[in-house]
Formats: sequence, C-alpha cells, structure tokens
Amino acid sequence: MPEDVRNLVIIGSGPAGLTAAIYASRSLLKPLVVAGRTPGGQLMITSEVENFPGFPEGIMGPDLMVKMREQAEKFGTDFLDDDITSVDFGKRPFELRVGDRTLLAKTVIVATGASALWLGIESEKRFMGKGVSGCATCDGAFFRNVPLAVIGGGDSALEEALFLTRFASSVTVVHRRDELRASKIMIKKANENGKISFIWDSVVKEIVGDKTVSGVVLANVKTGAETKLDVKGVFVAIGHKPNTEVFAGQLPLDEKGYIRLKRGSSTEIEGVFASGDVHDHRYRQAVTAAGWGCVSALDAQKYLEEHTTG
Ligand code: NAP
Repeated sequence: MPEDVRNLVIIGSGPAGLTAAIYASRSLLKPLVVAGRTPGGQLMITSEVENFPGFPEGIMGPDLMVKMREQAEKFGTDFLDDDITSVDFGKRPFELRVGDRTLLAKTVIVATGASALWLGIESEKRFMGKGVSGCATCDGAFFRNVPLAVIGGGDSALEEALFLTRFASSVTVVHRRDELRASKIMIKKANENGKISFIWDSVVKEIVGDKTVSGVVLANVKTGAETKLDVKGVFVAIGHKPNTEVFAGQLPLDEKGYIRLKRGSSTEIEGVFASGDVHDHRYRQAVTAAGWGCVSALDAQKYLEEHTTG
C-alpha cells in the first residue's frame, strides 16, 4: 500500500545524506532519510577525524555522525533505518521500495556513498573475521602485541596502519607499487612511526593459516619472487566502489558505477539528485560530501518551488 507523497526522500545517511537532511528540514520540507541497515556511512568505521572544520581537537568518526543525525532530527527529519530494495524513477511521483513498503517522493537525493573493496582471493573470504578485516577501528584491539599487515598505498591504508600501531607489535604496509598514493602528511606520520615498515611492488597471493591467519604469501610484481610474511592479521584498505547497484538501469552511471551528474547535483532524471561519494570519486572527503549534501538539498528545494503548483 503506497504511502503519502513526500517532498523529499534522501537515500543514505553519511555526511552527504545527513547534511542534505539538515538543510531540507530547516527549509520545512520534512524529508525522510532512508538511512540503511548500517546507518552513518564510512565515518562509522573511521577512527579520529582531524580535518573536519570546527573540531580542532579532532572527533571520532562515529561521534561526528551521531551529531549530524541529531542535528537533522532536531529540525524534523524522519528516519527509516532500512535499505532501499528497488526504485522506479520512470514514474511520477518517484517510487522507492523498502521490502514490501512503497515510498512515494516528489524529489529524491541519492547519497548512498561507496563501500570498501576487497582483494577477491578465496583465502580472504575464508579468513574473514578470523584475521582478515577491513576495519582497524572495529577489529584492531583484537590484535595486541602481534605483527600485522595492511594492504594498500592510499590514505586509508596508512590511517589503518597508524591506528593499528596502538595495539600491534609491528605493522607492515604491503603496496603494489613503489610509490604511495597517500597524502604527504599521512606518509610523514607513517615514516615517523617506528612500528611501521613497507614492502613495495608486492601483491597478496594468498592468506595462510589454520583456524586463524598466520601469514601472507606475497608476490613481487616486478620479479615474480614469492615471500611469506608472518602476521596474525591482514587489514585490507584498497579503496572503494560506489553503492549504486540498486540504481542500475534507473540512472546513468559511469564505467566504474558512479552516478553521472548533468548540472549542479542533478542527475539525468529531473527531480533526482546525487550527493557525495556516490558520484564524486575525485575528492571523497567527509567535508566535500557534506558540501554536496548542501548543494543537493538546495537543488531539490529549488526544483520543488519551480514544479509545485497552487
Ligand atoms: P585510494 O586512494 O583509491 O587508494 C587505494 C590504494 O589501494 C591505492 O594505493 C591502490 O594502489 C591500492 N589498490 C587498489 N586496488 C588494489 C588491489 N586489487 N590490490 C592491491 N592494492 C590495490 O583509496 P583510499 O585510501 O581508501 O582513499 C580514498 C579517498 O579517501 C582518498 O581521496 C583519500 O585521500 C581519502 N581518505 C582520506 C583520509 C584522511 O585524510 N585522513 C583517510 C582515508 C581516506 P595504486 O596506488 O597502485 O592505485
């Protein structure tokens, strides 16, 4: 049974979705945020955020998301902590399904963000939760006084490595090239940390162990030589993919699955806007996602003003 037509449904509850909600609710649009079953986005699995303006002492990622949600609730945003299962942007009002429930919306902001990528080898799956992890903040404390490996060469990899030095006896960052992609400040921090070392030009061929991880087999991409590194945990931090599966066939996506924008935050479908990491693969920061959230709320508001009669 369809529900009342909403002015605005925001899909996603990271910095983009929640900033859009703060702006839209302050404009009295009474938005609904479909927040997902694991609300809060990528900052929920981040440790300290030092570069979000207004927090000179830094703030923990999950704490920042709680504050953003409180701010959106304060101005009258409704929340549904569930996942969208399908959308129909061919109909007006737009139809969004959450299981058996059908939501109707005059405008939609897609702010579903991006998710961590995995290596895709069989042993990675086999040891998931038994020494393989994608979240140092979540799992780091389980690995006290043992050697660990972090896979990747970007900011996420170095952030994970730095965080893990709180617990681990040593952290080896394994990167497939001989040059890091991470920002200079993160490289400096990692180089200054006596527990962190690097293995260059190498990829993980296999993760080995019995019940839990005991090491990784690495292959040098230049020489082909294989080596074994003894570690008790492997943290994979090799980037992200956009969460757009549910929009395939409904919105134009680029070759990597990111939503293509037409003008401002507007997609090809008038009245459907996209915000944050789901379309922005270049900047991908909490603060740029929040900025996009603001842009998309203002765009949705203007669209509603121009298309509401009477
Ligand atoms: P990223 O910048 O895309 O880096 C991914 C890294 O993983 C790259 O070094 C890449 O190697 C490597 N990689 C990708 N696929 C691989 C595979 N199959 N096997 C082995 N290695 C693989 O992703 P990210 O580190 O998650 O960062 C994403 C964005 O968030 C960036 O803009 C970053 O600045 C930002 N971020 C910022 C902070 C911070 O400021 N504190 C923290 C985290 C993230 P190549 O280099 O060879 O491509």
